[in-house]
Amino acid sequence: MEIACLDLEGVLIPEVWINFAERTGIDALKATTRDIPDYDELMTMRLEILRENKLGIKDIQDVIDGMDPLPGAAEALDWLRERFQVVILSDTFYEFAEPFMRKLGWPTILCHKLEIDADGMIANYLIRQPDPKRTSVKAFHSLKYRCIATGDSYNDTTMLSEADAGILFRPPQNVIDEFPQFPVAREYSELQAEFAKASLRDL
Ligand SMILES: [Mg+2]
Repeated sequence: MEIACLDLEGVLIPEVWINFAERTGIDALKATTRDIPDYDELMTMRLEILRENKLGIKDIQDVIDGMDPLPGAAEALDWLRERFQVVILSDTFYEFAEPFMRKLGWPTILCHKLEIDADGMIANYLIRQPDPKRTSVKAFHSLKYRCIATGDSYNDTTMLSEADAGILFRPPQNVIDEFPQFPVAREYSELQAEFAKASLRDL
């Protein structure tokens, strides 16, 4: 049996923080794991900026409600779900992901959780476990599933290495240069072809 492990932002949906930064005009919120590989450092900075600007969860969810999955993402996800068990492994939070999951037909997603205070401000973020994407692949291996994984950025590379096959999707050049062992797909048709190639079955 094979599981397709998918990153969310950059693979199926746009970068939530970048869209939020554009809407609010706060440029510092445009930084992602592509710019700051240390996720804790990145999130601590984001929450500080939100507090300084008195922006709460409702402001962020308003922006997310107006965003759509990437063009072609829903169809690509359907293609994968017909051929694999699909699990989204994301460093986002359930509170941010929910509007997208509704639009994508509620696929399984393992991610993190936010702590919201009585004023609707994000008080903290609860990381489910350290190195969650790699650890999830290890767990699937313990259940005797073969894993084919795809992602676009630094926070996916341990997952891609741990998986039986890893595929970069629309990665920035610095990630391609640092991880030349992974094939690169730029369109969903190419991604599907890489999954078909990596599968032990005839797809
Ligand atoms: Mg990503």
